[in-house]
Amino acid sequence: MIDLYAMTEEELSAFLASLGEPRFRAKQILAWLKTGAPLSEMTNLPKSLREKLAAQCTDTLPKVEKKLVSKIDGTVKYLFSLYDGQCVESVLMRYKHGNTLCISSQVGCRMGCRFCASTIGGRVRDLLPSELLGQVIAAEKDSAERISNIVMMGIGEPLDNYDNVIRFLHLVNDKNSLNIGYRHISLSTCGVVPGIRRLAEEAFPITLSISLHASDNETRSALMPVNNKWPIEELLAACVEYYKATRRRISFEYTLIAGKNDTEEGARALAALLKNAFRGTDAPLHVNLIRVNAVEETGMRAGSIEGANRFADILNSLGVVATVRRRLGSDVNAACGQLRRASGGKAHEN
Ligand code: SAH
Repeated sequence: MIDLYAMTEEELSAFLASLGEPRFRAKQILAWLKTGAPLSEMTNLPKSLREKLAAQCTDTLPKVEKKLVSKIDGTVKYLFSLYDGQCVESVLMRYKHGNTLCISSQVGCRMGCRFCASTIGGRVRDLLPSELLGQVIAAEKDSAERISNIVMMGIGEPLDNYDNVIRFLHLVNDKNSLNIGYRHISLSTCGVVPGIRRLAEEAFPITLSISLHASDNETRSALMPVNNKWPIEELLAACVEYYKATRRRISFEYTLIAGKNDTEEGARALAALLKNAFRGTDAPLHVNLIRVNAVEETGMRAGSIEGANRFADILNSLGVVATVRRRLGSDVNAACGQLRRASGGKAHEN
């Protein structure tokens, strides 16, 4: 079966031509698909074409399995089920400048970060390009609101699903589809260095976020096994390369975990590390501090808000811009991976 959500306008029009159909139908079909309408509702297409397509194509979108709406800030947490019953999460966040959707890139994750709920059961499979796009379309359809920004910070490691993520970037950017600009998309990685290098070569002007979480290799390796393969020096060298190729600001994520990586010396070491790595470039340095969301299985907990503010103050005083991130949707299980785990990973048969 051919996946309609996996094609750009150019590809869809070539496919239609191969069926002996006029190419202009591609634009019509994409205009429907981006609203989440199934083939059966595409009423400006001849019935014969709809039937022909239905016989050889799928138009499956992620299905809302569960939805939690924050009473505090309106953040919506979706649990989506996929064609095979596997589930992933997306989070819709409302900001003054528009809506941001945080999407998942894999079912589960194999990166093994010690504080993260998404990795506990390992990786089940990669998400398809159409499932990456489908999360955005399904969330727009359900909320009846436009999504203007996308962050790949949900379940999974996007650079461990590289080809599908790149394909998704093309699909979501297609002017006949959602037409979301690369500058409105961020990708977050735990530090898969070859992926960062490839991304630098492709020069997509997306924003790269690096989950750094420590300023020395010993601490980082203890929290993030990926650091054994690609240590901090290699990671930051790849970041510098990425900045030089794209001129896009890189943001560093730093999850503060009590007693593990949240000391004042750690803050000073972090500032020195980043300034050293980016010396000689004009890259603005930005660190997002997040107090860890406690996940029962990990035994890791957050320190005080005052401690986080102090950590930020030290970075700022040393010339590294740091902000303590506001926690959105704290009442809807917002630590990624928790809703999927609570559901047992798969949708209930129905
Ligand atoms: N694999 C990618 C994207 C998914 S994780 C990455 O590692 O960047 C998105 C962000 O949430 C990462 O910065 C990750 O380190 C962080 N994170 C994971 N579990 C967390 C938790 N329990 N509390 C706070 N942040 C967490």
